[in-house]
Amino acid sequence: MHGHFHHGKQQHWPQADSVEDFHRNLAAVRRRIAAACARAGRDPASVRLLPVSKTVPEERIRLAYAAGCRELGENKVQEAGRKWEAMADLADLRWSVIGHLQTNKARLVARFAAEFQALDSLRVAEALDRRLQAEGRALDVFIQVNTSGEASKFGLAPQDAQAFLAHLPAFPALRVRGLMTLAVFSADIARVRACFVLLRELRERLRQEAPTGIALEELSMGMSGDYEVAIEEGATVVRVGQAIFGARATPDSFYWPPPSSPTDKEEP
Ligand SMILES: *Cc1c(COP(=O)(O)O)cnc(C)c1O
Repeated sequence: MHGHFHHGKQQHWPQADSVEDFHRNLAAVRRRIAAACARAGRDPASVRLLPVSKTVPEERIRLAYAAGCRELGENKVQEAGRKWEAMADLADLRWSVIGHLQTNKARLVARFAAEFQALDSLRVAEALDRRLQAEGRALDVFIQVNTSGEASKFGLAPQDAQAFLAHLPAFPALRVRGLMTLAVFSADIARVRACFVLLRELRERLRQEAPTGIALEELSMGMSGDYEVAIEEGATVVRVGQAIFGARATPDSFYWPPPSSPTDKEEP
């Protein structure tokens, strides 16, 4: 894995087009998870693999389901909602929204999502809580922290996380599970690792003063290019797309706009 990083083209991520392909790719990722856990002296059962299916069409998602996937991460809420409706027959499939949310889409998330990993504003927390209460549902949430300092990344500044956390007990339908981050996009593993270390150390500090009922058990960090480093630094959830489904044609800039473009743009 050394030298591999996010920009998919120099990676070997074979497309999965059959149930066997998914078995192979999932097994390869699980082997790497186990090896990273062994290096870090961790139990592989302490790491949850969240397959990320953004841009992947329904037919191939059904193959992944047949290969055993029972939860999926999606970056864009509307894409996730469409897929949830189309695959309502897969009743035990759990949907996790892992991308930035606008308040006007909180209602949709409240309808179908089991988890939301990109909470970074009280307006969104308030909107979600209100919609969830109306639906009689609760939602697992992760607070997204910007650990790279890049303007293109969503998430709270690390120094703002504690004050943010103090407000969350006001939203009883939100079950705060932990923190989430995206590392810097770099081939320099030391810089990537520093982002993961920052999130872990922040979690340790926040835990001491977290309001009662907020446990912050989870650290969601690591993607196809860097999940092994993330596990070495304490990840309990890794969000892996391309290494399971195959390299994605959509450029990452679609999900993480460059600093020069508006950061809150609508889905096409
Ligand atoms: C797409 C995405 C991932 C997974 O990225 P891969 O390179 O496909 O593994 C992880 N987290 C977020 C927030 C994403 O949008």
